[in-house]
Amino acid sequence: MRSSDDWRSTLPQQLPGGAWRTRFAPAPTGYLHLGHLVNALHVWGMARAFGGTVVLRIEDHDRTRCRPEYEQALLDDLDWLGLAPDVYDVPSFRRDVGTHPARQSDQHGRYERALQSLESRGLVYACRCTRRDIAQVVPHAPGEEPRYPGTCREAQVPPTDSFARRVRLADARFGFDDLRLGALEQTPQLQCGDLLVRDRHAQWTYQFAVVVDDMAHDIDVVIRGEDLLASTGRQLQLGSLLGRTRPLRFLHHTLLVHPDGSKLSKATHDTSLREMRAGGATAARLLAEAARRAGLSDVETLESRDIASLFARH
Ligand SMILES: [Zn+2]
Repeated sequence: MRSSDDWRSTLPQQLPGGAWRTRFAPAPTGYLHLGHLVNALHVWGMARAFGGTVVLRIEDHDRTRCRPEYEQALLDDLDWLGLAPDVYDVPSFRRDVGTHPARQSDQHGRYERALQSLESRGLVYACRCTRRDIAQVVPHAPGEEPRYPGTCREAQVPPTDSFARRVRLADARFGFDDLRLGALEQTPQLQCGDLLVRDRHAQWTYQFAVVVDDMAHDIDVVIRGEDLLASTGRQLQLGSLLGRTRPLRFLHHTLLVHPDGSKLSKATHDTSLREMRAGGATAARLLAEAARRAGLSDVETLESRDIASLFARH
């Protein structure tokens, strides 16, 4: 890994030449907080500094946790912050007539077709294991990722027994260049085993939906937090199985953490942007706060039109 303090100085040479696309892809499961704002600063800042285009995608694949009022709230928050997506309503993603952001919940047909293309090549099998079943076979510490041991791989589970589907992953290494962390390599089969693409409740998984979406949206650069670093190899492997040929680059930025090291999240009731806004904070003040906490700048206020300077000046 390269030292993380000089990563911004090498960015222009590593980014795709000409126009390129990235995305801001929040899940509407709660209000946006400072952690999301750190991600937004990287997404819009990099795009504004180096000629990228920002696609907005609502990652509402998990219908049990997403709510329309959170989607509306995040659109309002982005507007208030002055962070406007360049691509809001992706035509190829549209289901209804009218303008609304690209949503995963509209893409069932696309995911189904992607699954069928894998099935037709014998790469998919039904799985009836619960999380508890897997934990019993593969004990793991809390927070540690359990590797699927392949219980159903050769078991010929009838497809009608379970909605859950897994994709066979060959035991292959996937290398990639992270714009901040340098050259990395992962072996998804050793990390997670055969990948779950649809769960027992017929929900598409994050890993599957995001790979299909990034292909449909012609995404060139994925900018996200370090908590998703471990997912990169499996997403590249899945993309390659789905026929992705367009190169994909990654930037995994640091995450905001509490003083005890735990991650900011909606679940732990971290202060939302709208609460801070209601408390009198200005957009420029919140952008500066996010930039400071991400180690990008120590300015007191930061206007949204100036966020390119966080990346281009170095
Ligand atoms: Zn299984």
